[in-house]
Amino acid sequence: MKKRTGMFCLLLLVVLAGVATVQSQPAPITAIKAGRLIDPETGTAATNQVILIEGEKIKAVGPNLAIPAGAVVIDLSKLTLLPGLVDAHTHMAITYKEQPENNYYYLTYIMESTPLRAIQAASNGIQLLNSGFTVVRDVGNNALYADAALRQAIEQGWLPGPTVIPSGPMIGSTGGQFWPTPEMYKYHNIMFPEYIDANSPDEIVRAIRENMLFGAKTIKLCIDCKPWGYSVEDIKLAISEAAKGGCKVEGHVQTAEGAQRAIDAGIHMVGHGNALTPEHHRQMALKGIFLNGTDTPFMPYRGSEQAFKRTVASLRDAWEKKVPLTFSTDLDYWNERMKNEKTGEWLTRGDLTIAFLETWKEAGIPPADILRAMTINGYKAADVIKERGPIKPGFYADLIAVAGDPLTDIDALHNVQFVMKNGMVFKKEGVMTPEKFFHPGPVRTPSGRWTR
Ligand SMILES: [Zn+2]
Repeated sequence: MKKRTGMFCLLLLVVLAGVATVQSQPAPITAIKAGRLIDPETGTAATNQVILIEGEKIKAVGPNLAIPAGAVVIDLSKLTLLPGLVDAHTHMAITYKEQPENNYYYLTYIMESTPLRAIQAASNGIQLLNSGFTVVRDVGNNALYADAALRQAIEQGWLPGPTVIPSGPMIGSTGGQFWPTPEMYKYHNIMFPEYIDANSPDEIVRAIRENMLFGAKTIKLCIDCKPWGYSVEDIKLAISEAAKGGCKVEGHVQTAEGAQRAIDAGIHMVGHGNALTPEHHRQMALKGIFLNGTDTPFMPYRGSEQAFKRTVASLRDAWEKKVPLTFSTDLDYWNERMKNEKTGEWLTRGDLTIAFLETWKEAGIPPADILRAMTINGYKAADVIKERGPIKPGFYADLIAVAGDPLTDIDALHNVQFVMKNGMVFKKEGVMTPEKFFHPGPVRTPSGRWTR
């Protein structure tokens, strides 16, 4: 008995020592040697930098830093490093098609289930990360919170993907973006889950609280999808209610009057640039209101020359007036012409997203300003700037590297060679290496925390 107790104590000591060792083990250190490191804030690049990463976060950055013994060294001395990119307005969980729905997205809602659309979103997230997008604002048309579920799954460690900023369903006055028939609206309830109807102050408050409860990190309002859209007071109410849950408000805008109401209410961000006038741009610059213009290029698979000219002129004017611009796509469609013209291979969701650079180039916006829109402004608009974006100590290590110099040739972003997300390598030497991102359980859920 005594002997057994002794053995037990010994075992206990060994186990406790083991636990103590595990707990006191510092997070692994990774050292990246960067040939060039871009600071998008200043539009400059420093050479021969070392970035030390401890666990998920950046620990130190500087020229010729001492690399601790045992650190994993990643040599990117031939590449240019920069923060991960941001798509400030996209829709990963809807893809309307020419067949069978004839590009009519009401039909996609009917024909494709939330689970199917959630899986599409997961695939789109991986494709976007592969092209260097580490933060994505996913703003509406996400079925029954597929966007929030994807954020949660990526955060928990089930699969790789960007940091998703989900809005949940768009909130709008009766009808949302649809003109549904009475049968659709009343009997089949087709309006939900794609839009939440909110027609009064009480309903606006309820809809916002509901979205935040189910995981929204931003709120998207249909300002003027209907002639009975939201007033300045309605929008102000939405802004103050959203703030209680730590969310900022984006307004989907499609008329000049709606744009003015959103600006007057002091909205965080205006979605879509086509209805904006030079005067709106002037006011937005003055108030620091972000624009996600969703600036569609004219491509063999999308757009028209006429629309492209208008988009380019509008983006150019917004840039001249110094509106805080973000890079945004509104990608929510697919067709069989989305192939590389030279190789005939399918374009990925990441390729299709980066292709929006064509509009920015056509507008004559300098690469440094495009980079700022794709990084710093995107991080600010997504409201993650306090923890993600700058390559500085204390921030999450979300980094990408490209061959060439995007400060002189923005097309260098088409060729992302290296992607790191939360300190983990997702892609190197141009090839995805996602093994470490996949787990059979929620490995990154803080214990006992069940909140979203
Ligand atoms: Zn959109």
